Amino acid sequence: MAWTAQRDQLLATVLEMDRLGLVSGTNGNASVRIEAASDPDAFLVTPAALPYPTMTPDQLVPVNGELEPIEGDGVPSSESLLHLALYRARPDVGAVLHTHSVYASALGVAGRPLPPIVDELVVYVGGQVEVAEYGFPGTEDLAQAGVAALGDRRAVLLPHHGMFAVADTATEALRVCALVERVAQIFINATAIGEAKEVPAESFKAERRMYLERTGLL
Ligand SMILES: [Zn+2]
Repeated sequence: MAWTAQRDQLLATVLEMDRLGLVSGTNGNASVRIEAASDPDAFLVTPAALPYPTMTPDQLVPVNGELEPIEGDGVPSSESLLHLALYRARPDVGAVLHTHSVYASALGVAGRPLPPIVDELVVYVGGQVEVAEYGFPGTEDLAQAGVAALGDRRAVLLPHHGMFAVADTATEALRVCALVERVAQIFINATAIGEAKEVPAESFKAERRMYLERTGLL
């Protein structure tokens, strides 16, 4: 079995994603880029419809740019098209994580983007988290809508669905998902008691620069 270190790391990340309650049942999915001589777009992705607590490293599915398994006979996640589109659009991205967490999903249902109301959201995610255009789950429409709304940031909300995060590693992508979920909760609570104010413009500029330097996008 190839890519054992990547399999162990991806599995550890999805177990933590499940433990944190960012997904329920078999929903959500995650992937990391892998080196495969035959294909520059290859990645290792969680399998379709298998529960996380009993998932094993060999059940993770390495796929090529056609989303065909390179090794084994597993079925890749039904959202693999969006993972592929994100890797193609963002060479800086090494991992993709998709969750159905409650507060991020609530914003997507309301069609409300998550504004830059907390300093660390700008530093680690790059600014406002936009809501993508709606696309049916698993389709190319959803993949293209997700890429367009992500821009150069690290997270995007999907209407009537959940959210996606991208980062250099799976651990970091999970951190982004957890941060967006927490800030979404803060935003909804702040809006219930008053106005959710954005970070001052000067701070936003400095934090945005820190983000671009950290991610190598500058
Ligand atoms: Zn989903």
